[in-house]
Amino acid sequence: MRHFLPLVKEKDNMSKKLLLVNPSDQAKLNAIDVRIFLLPPPSLAYLAAMTPPKWDIVIADENVDPLTFEDADLVGITAMTWNAPRAYEISELYRQRGVKTVMGGIHASMLPDEAIRFVDSVVIGEAESVWERVLHDFEKNGLKSIYKGERISLENLARPRNDLYSDKYRIKASVQTARGCPIDCEFCSVATFHGRTYRQRPVEDVLDELEALDCRELFFSDDNILNYGKEAERRAIRLFQGLVDRGLKKRWISQVGIDFAINPEVLSWAKRSGCLAVHIGFESIDEDALQAMHKVRNLKVGAGKYTELIKRIHEHGIGVHGAFVLGSDGDRKDIFERTIDFILDSKIDTASFTILTPLPGTRLYSRLMAEERLLRTNYPEDWRHYDFEEAVFRPRHMTPDELEDGVYRIYQGIDSRAVSLKRAFNSFLQTRSLPLTVVAYSLNRGLGSLATKKYQYVKCVAS
Ligand code: SF4
Repeated sequence: MRHFLPLVKEKDNMSKKLLLVNPSDQAKLNAIDVRIFLLPPPSLAYLAAMTPPKWDIVIADENVDPLTFEDADLVGITAMTWNAPRAYEISELYRQRGVKTVMGGIHASMLPDEAIRFVDSVVIGEAESVWERVLHDFEKNGLKSIYKGERISLENLARPRNDLYSDKYRIKASVQTARGCPIDCEFCSVATFHGRTYRQRPVEDVLDELEALDCRELFFSDDNILNYGKEAERRAIRLFQGLVDRGLKKRWISQVGIDFAINPEVLSWAKRSGCLAVHIGFESIDEDALQAMHKVRNLKVGAGKYTELIKRIHEHGIGVHGAFVLGSDGDRKDIFERTIDFILDSKIDTASFTILTPLPGTRLYSRLMAEERLLRTNYPEDWRHYDFEEAVFRPRHMTPDELEDGVYRIYQGIDSRAVSLKRAFNSFLQTRSLPLTVVAYSLNRGLGSLATKKYQYVKCVAS
């Protein structure tokens, strides 16, 4: 365990220091260097933007830089589920030195009674709505245990403090244009956290923010920049068109839903505005699995259409990263080999595969708990296993080991040097985009080697 530097810094009476931390599992970080795939954590940059100028602010992301446990007056920590144990550890270390800690993010919002055992204050929900109050109470020595954040209007959202990010991120800016998701997949907690209503920032406001950015590459951190329905589609077109009209030469990636491929006008404006590639949650090539996960939108379009949709996106010179989830009750043992065939036949540029993970606050978690299928329930310590790489529940049609081995086999089947080269060549033929081809090759090679290290790590931890 790391020790503190002595708290000897002289402070003037006015200035205070706020440390905002994104924690990471240290043992895993030592075994696996995940830095090349990281994107900056947008929630911390938004909180920093709402903090008065008298505060000296540091954003520390343990995924990119080791935490030095520097002096601070107040520590704010965000965490998903897998890194919650590390968040608690960091909080305890600061509290032992008399430094107050506040925790927010999706895990603490779903399990505030657990989190409050380890921190001074928990913010439930969207922290921006209560952040001013948190800081005010802290300064008056009256920090409360629980703050209930509301879903905020995204009009006049403060500009995120991207300038506070480490310079080690490949993509240095995250821009959020909307929050919320009207779909309700069984494994996902986005709708519980951000709500089922799609809240959007005004397009001109987003464009102003983009215009003020001094970097070319950026990530739209929306869960789906297009969202669903004609109105949302028109808004996305206005946004893409605005990038072109203002002459902003950006290169961007974003998560989108499968509907992104359907309207050629959307595709055309996306490409013209600098879209390099999109990340799509295909989740599974199998409709039984989609059914089991309640992935209704993909079911409506049909898994049989995936290849055609990828082709349409490629025809506009845009790359496709597919995200797949393995281990649902619809998956049988042949799903792994069938997925490899799909990846190679569809000419999808890059893909990642995660193990279905029952996160607290989701319907999946409640169901698997009721069915007594959860394997790791020594909380909070066991949350570190809920990292999408380890089977933490008993799958219906295979063993947990077979599930982990199967996911590893997929990576082996598609990301070797020879196969990656062939896939990169296909990417170029499909899109005629050299930047995409280079990114796709290096990402596939990186994902393959990362998968090997993660697999070895998971097996080592389990043994
Ligand atoms: S997985 Fe995507 S579509 Fe499904 S609920 Fe979550 S954000 Fe919405």
